[in-house]
Amino acid sequence: MSDGPGMRYETWRALALWGAEEEAAALEVIRSRSPFRYYGPDLAHRTDAFEAAFSEVAGVAHTVAVSSGTAALTAALIGLGIPAGAEVIVPAVTFVASVGAVVGARGVPVFAEVDDSLTLDPARLEERITGRTWGVMPVHLNNAAADMDPITEVARRHGLRVVEDAAQAAGIRYRGRPVGGLGDAGAFSFQLDKNITAGEGGAVTTSDADVHDRVARYQDQGGQFTTARGATRGTADAPPFVGTNLRMTELTAAVLGAQLPRLLPMCRRLRDVARRVRAGTADLPVRWRRLPDEEGSGGDLTLLLGSRLEARGVVAGLNAAGIPAHTLYQGQPVTANRAVREGRTPWGVEWERPPRLRTSEALLGRSVTIALGAAMTDDDVDAVVDAVRKACQGISAAG
Ligand SMILES: *Cc1c(COP(=O)(O)O)cnc(C)c1O
Repeated sequence: MSDGPGMRYETWRALALWGAEEEAAALEVIRSRSPFRYYGPDLAHRTDAFEAAFSEVAGVAHTVAVSSGTAALTAALIGLGIPAGAEVIVPAVTFVASVGAVVGARGVPVFAEVDDSLTLDPARLEERITGRTWGVMPVHLNNAAADMDPITEVARRHGLRVVEDAAQAAGIRYRGRPVGGLGDAGAFSFQLDKNITAGEGGAVTTSDADVHDRVARYQDQGGQFTTARGATRGTADAPPFVGTNLRMTELTAAVLGAQLPRLLPMCRRLRDVARRVRAGTADLPVRWRRLPDEEGSGGDLTLLLGSRLEARGVVAGLNAAGIPAHTLYQGQPVTANRAVREGRTPWGVEWERPPRLRTSEALLGRSVTIALGAAMTDDDVDAVVDAVRKACQGISAAG
């Protein structure tokens, strides 16, 4: 997320660390005249190398690099064999891309409540399961993991597939294990606002060789180049299917490869920044968003205030002090989006108006997220503490 005018620091993550390595990596691809991942006059296989390196970060056997996070989510669902019309449970608090991916994979989104972690409430998940439910898509919101153990337990009990939307969480862990390797498949985004970036880009992670094979073929026209020229060959006896083109370019992969070594140190640093702000305001009657695993998080500072009005006041107070802060998604659950609410897809109305998810609506509406940037100085951190203290003066403990 970019900083607004008058803010005292920039809120870029990976982009703040862009420098000579990214430039050299991109230049090398241009000079080699080989920007396409599967062949070229002097191909350096930067995309293959990025996939291998990212598998280490996500703790999985396989990564397929693709063109965006939305493409990664769609390819993950298709790689797992989602049947047409199958229902996928999505939390009410997410970016509309989670919904778009389900639609793109010919599934039907069903919306579930979040809890005070602003991620999928495992206790409310079960009530949304029907005979048509095929999978669940927990979202690791703003660099903090969803509560994967209880979510996975419910999913297993009902035979559901788990696709992690880890678009906002590259480098994040849950109980010692990296996100992206906790479900049947994970999806990451490398768009400008995310933890590592080349402007656009995405990745599917899985430890299932068959899922990997299907995703690799789907993103490459059913396996046009992956089977003919590339290093990865499809499972020889699996039947062919028609795919599409979601391929990553060598330029993107080269830039992402240059960023990757900075990812974990940046997450650690921003987690530390968040801790220092929480410690510096520990005597105030403020409540922070619950993090199912704070230890594995990558720097989230989200306050839960007593009301929407109070949240608006705190945003205004922080912004006036030059601290970038906002209420995520303008305080609106994804079901408030008109197309989502009305079930409108490019090919017609595909689902009925979802119920209002009042818990999610209320929690999101009274939340305030302080944006952190990778270039923040210690002075900036002190300024955040001061600004939170001032902005929260006079508020009472939230219920
Ligand atoms: C950014 C994002 C996506 C989509 O990623 P793109 O690369 O922009 O397609 C999906 N889900 C969530 C939660 C996101 O924040």
